[in-house]
Amino acid sequence: MGASKSDILLIGGGHSHVGVLADWARRGCPARRATLLTPEPTLRYSGMVPGWLAGEHTRDAGLVDLAGLARAAGVDLVLDRCVAIDPESRTILSLGNGVVPFDLASIDVGGVPHAARVLGDDPRLLDIRPIDRFVAELERKEQLARSIAVIGGGAGGVEIAFALRQRAGGPKPVSVTLIAGERGLLPDFSSQVRRKVVAELARQGIAFFAVDAWMERGVLLAGEVETPADLVVAAIGSAAPDWPRAGGLAVDEEGFIAVDRHQRSTSHPYIFAAGDCARRIDAKVAHSGVHAVHTGRVLAANLRAASKGKPPRRSYRPRPASLYLLSTGTGEAILSYGPFAVQSRWAARLKAWIDKRWIATYAAMTERA
Ligand SMILES: Cc1cc2nc3c(=O)[nH]c(=O)nc-3n(C[C@H](O)[C@H](O)[C@H](O)COP(=O)(O)OP(=O)(O)OC[C@H]3O[C@@H](n4cnc5c(N)ncnc54)[C@H](O)[C@@H]3O)c2cc1C
Repeated sequence: MGASKSDILLIGGGHSHVGVLADWARRGCPARRATLLTPEPTLRYSGMVPGWLAGEHTRDAGLVDLAGLARAAGVDLVLDRCVAIDPESRTILSLGNGVVPFDLASIDVGGVPHAARVLGDDPRLLDIRPIDRFVAELERKEQLARSIAVIGGGAGGVEIAFALRQRAGGPKPVSVTLIAGERGLLPDFSSQVRRKVVAELARQGIAFFAVDAWMERGVLLAGEVETPADLVVAAIGSAAPDWPRAGGLAVDEEGFIAVDRHQRSTSHPYIFAAGDCARRIDAKVAHSGVHAVHTGRVLAANLRAASKGKPPRRSYRPRPASLYLLSTGTGEAILSYGPFAVQSRWAARLKAWIDKRWIATYAAMTERA
């Protein structure tokens, strides 16, 4: 089995490739034959998962229709998963279609779950990645849960803890605990935001503590803390997929694909990468949905240039401070911008407006296709 050659092969329907497809839908596809290879016809917009958990919108309100976008962009869709890459022969190996050749490729496959490896195998453990599996399994596992521990002191863990508190707020008494690792609570946010989050956790009766041993030991909380939980939700980020390193693409020390300011592989200039599977070597760009989304426009322009044999010119420059809106699940959000923080209903409305507008933009494009 095999697939015919693509002038541009988009591997993974992640947040950056959504931006690429949208650009091609608006301005035309730059390749004679472009293909999107991704396992699912939709992408779940992670920013709306806590809102679904808290009952603010339906489960599938945050789905982006990748199949419709590909159609609108004039891109062939292949529902499949990449398992290996050979950059020298410009081919990938996919699970269902075997070898797929390309001229130019762009990789946006996100990170891979690593909770079981970091925390230790535990039947109570539920990783929030991949998000679709988390959504499906939570609905099954939560039925039996009387006490839930959320592990991870970053924005994802905080929002998930607030959302699960709301979700568990019905007639049956369910306790929710938030446990941060050695970097503590929201290490990348200002002290103002941390203060507000700590106060809100207390207000909602969510116990919080930080531990510093479980990461290194790789044993889920053994000894340090008696986990008061029969469901443990892990929100500890993700690891790099191993096939880019195995195939010989340049990677950083953690295995993320090393890219330059134009999102181009530092070892193979005809391969681009963006989002959580990539690491900029010229600048510090954190792995987050916000950055993955903004990189999409830059990536689209650079792929367009590269497809014409021109050098890519655009570069994504993160602003000195990014706007983050952490939903408390109670109809409020904590707005964070640099050192500034405010908690209000207005911030929650702003978050809902931004999220819905993002989804609606792509929905409109697929309807026109
Ligand atoms: C619950 C939760 C809430 C979050 N909230 C926020 C937030 O509010 N703000 C924020 O900035 N960030 C947030 N994040 C982080 C954000 O989700 C990630 O940084 C973002 O999803 C990264 O986008 P990506 O394009 O790199 O990958 P992803 O969004 O993970 O997309 C990867 C795509 O590639 C496909 N794929 C995977 N493997 C393969 C393969 N081998 N071959 C082909 N295709 C493949 C997948 O099916 C998917 O379509 C949140 C994360 C979670 C889990």
